[in-house]
Amino acid sequence: MQSYEWRGRMISMAESKPKIVVLGAGYAGMMTTKRLMQQFTPEEAELTLVNKHNYHYQTTWLHELAAGTIDVNRTRIMISDVISPKRVNLIQDTVLKINKEEKTVELEHDKIEYDYLVIGLGFEKATFGIKGMEEHAFSIQSVDKSRMIRDHIEYQFAQYRNLPNPDPSMLTIVVGGAGFTGIEFLGELAERIPVLCKKYDVPRSDVRIIDIEAMDTILPGFDPELLTYATDSLEARGVEFKLGTMIKEVKANAVIVGEDNQEIKAGTIVWTGGVQANRIIGESGFELTKGKVNVDPTLRAPGHDDVYILGDCAWVMNKETGRPYPPTAQIAIQEADICAHNIKTSVFGGTLKEFSFDNKGTVASLGGSDAMGTVFDGNKLYGVAAKTMKNVIDNRYLFLLGGPRLVLRKGKFRPF
Ligand code: FAD
Ligand code: NAD
Repeated sequence: MQSYEWRGRMISMAESKPKIVVLGAGYAGMMTTKRLMQQFTPEEAELTLVNKHNYHYQTTWLHELAAGTIDVNRTRIMISDVISPKRVNLIQDTVLKINKEEKTVELEHDKIEYDYLVIGLGFEKATFGIKGMEEHAFSIQSVDKSRMIRDHIEYQFAQYRNLPNPDPSMLTIVVGGAGFTGIEFLGELAERIPVLCKKYDVPRSDVRIIDIEAMDTILPGFDPELLTYATDSLEARGVEFKLGTMIKEVKANAVIVGEDNQEIKAGTIVWTGGVQANRIIGESGFELTKGKVNVDPTLRAPGHDDVYILGDCAWVMNKETGRPYPPTAQIAIQEADICAHNIKTSVFGGTLKEFSFDNKGTVASLGGSDAMGTVFDGNKLYGVAAKTMKNVIDNRYLFLLGGPRLVLRKGKFRPF
């Protein structure tokens, strides 16, 4: 019988196999599980994937769900449709805490053991302690939270039509932050609002979409020419920008902004001002750098060679720039390959690989058939060409995850 050395002793495959547990079925978790299925035979390792829901969602499409330009089921993929439950233990449960010393994970309804752990629990909104933000602002961070935004906006329209003297600010939508999430959401709103106006017989001029950004520019640090393109495209469709203006407080139906504490009344307030790692990693005692775990180049947590941390929970340094990589799906997906390889190497021996990012570019959707971004070596794309590229990027991920069948079922084919 085949045998291998395990924790200092020789054991046969049948006697015990390493338990590899993946937490979170986001980009990092799903792709790592897929890769682990390729790296290990069923006899070599026991694989477990734990996720809050029985579905994986496309976080990168949540702004569309939040605006109501895409149906919820397009953004969701049943995990068991792409990962066989015969091959991987699929546990639908909520992770509460990781006990790294005793190598267990506490779930809401269970406690499980691991020999190797992969943490891919993603992000949550960062409110930076802004008063009222937690209570009064929506955020685009899960399927459930995003569809609340869609439903709330539509309810505002319905209310507006039914109240005898409606407050005009009911139809003002304030978006906090003009990073990529904010800009992509504004693009979808610019498409959706005319549809809602028609549906509820509301003049377009009754609706305001206001973005408030602390910096003097949208998408700080991005290519200036592309920023101008994005700004023009959004303003032409009725988006107003208040740049160089900090949101200081959020009330039930208003935001307080800027040096002069101006109050802007709004029926809908959506915060896209920043993200932080899932707080579970801090609560589990991992040492944090700006809320994330500063992993080694092989993606392991310092002092814990059996714990890999990926995606938005990981602080991964870019050696060339001396700065950490931004939290993106593109990076989370690439980290999965390295993680799966390194776990296999830890079990069977060999050389661990270090993560290095292969940047394929950044494309932001501006709603409808519009987008802009850079691809490969900084080539700029605008309009329908950029939107087509965005669809190619999205479909490529679906292909990696579930092959051509998934692309046909969930893919995006038209740039409008
Ligand atoms: P996630 O994809 O967030 O997945 C985390 C998973 O863990 C989820 O399934 C969640 O349900 C689960 N989970 C969380 N807590 C628990 C718990 N306690 N118990 C059990 N399960 C739990 N990046 C790009 O590269 N390109 C883009 O175009 C792009 N567009 C974006 C658009 C929007 C609107 C947003 C918000 C982000 C976008 N990003 C984009 C960033 C990208 O989505 C994230 O970097 C990426 O999702 C991180 O992947 P992840 O696997 O770390 O976490
Ligand atoms: P972000 O941190 O990139 O942007 C937040 C924005 O909010 C910043 O411009 C910041 O100046 C502003 N802000 C912060 N506090 C403020 C305040 N008090 N008042 C007004 N403005 C304030 O966050 P994000 O846009 O959610 O992006 C998160 C990550 O996801 C990034 O790494 C981003 O690259 C990635 N992402 C990528 C894409 C894409 O590639 N198409 C799309 C969405 C998100």
